[in-house]
Amino acid sequence: MTGDPIYEIYAIRYAHHSRFAPENFLGGGDSHDLPSPIDYFVWAITGPGGPFIVDTGFDEATGKKRKREVLKPIGEGLKAIGIDPGAVENVIVSHMHYDHAGNHDLFPRARYHLQDCEMDYVSGRCMCHAHLRAPFEEEDVVAMVRKVFTGRVTFHNGDSQLAPGITVHKIGGHSKGLQSVRVNTRRGPVVLASDAAHLYAHFEQSRVFPIVYNVGEVLEGYQTLKRLAPTMNHIVPGHDPQVLERYPGAGAGMEGWIIRLDADLNSCAPAPTPLRT
Ligand SMILES: [Zn+2]
Ligand SMILES: [Zn+2]
Repeated sequence: MTGDPIYEIYAIRYAHHSRFAPENFLGGGDSHDLPSPIDYFVWAITGPGGPFIVDTGFDEATGKKRKREVLKPIGEGLKAIGIDPGAVENVIVSHMHYDHAGNHDLFPRARYHLQDCEMDYVSGRCMCHAHLRAPFEEEDVVAMVRKVFTGRVTFHNGDSQLAPGITVHKIGGHSKGLQSVRVNTRRGPVVLASDAAHLYAHFEQSRVFPIVYNVGEVLEGYQTLKRLAPTMNHIVPGHDPQVLERYPGAGAGMEGWIIRLDADLNSCAPAPTPLRT
């Protein structure tokens, strides 16, 4: 990525869910009263070529339906960092789960970037099974189909470059066509895992989140994330509240809401872990 443009990355926290460890780790062994809350994020990559938004979150109505607390609508978070959702031209959808693919009308001008096999997955025979369709919202899928028919979706198959210094990488596992995003920043390439790793514990300890399409791909995915990143501290998990503590706020009053992932880690953050591949 040497010579590629340098981008800034913001993580915008928009929702929260208090829960216990067995909800986050497959295979048991965790105490049922050990708290393991998760946060919900979307990410904004800014730099030359205009912003790329990674994932679109869910709205108040879906949050209520799924008993998840929306803290601040994502449009508000984007406006706080100077991004007008109505002017955004590129949205990367890591996967189609309800917490990553809602707010269908927030980006009326945007082109959506999605893996071929995620679209196949959410519109094909796997969705005949209640267990597999549970993390998806029918209306999210229908809205994406409509975008296909209005020429607003770009499909990717595997690894793909969206702009110099911004690449997507198919991981699969948690959802069949899940993709992570690698972005060149002033501290080197940063990997937005999204749900390829919900929490630091998942990729650091090779543990698996219980919502899963293919466990083997989840575990292989951790190797891919580590291969894409120069250190473990360049991998950003998709739902870990610790992310908010490890990185500095993006501006006054934004602590706990919007943080800079291209910035050096807070001094209280753990030292970089050597890569274990
Ligand atoms: Zn997911
Ligand atoms: Zn998620």
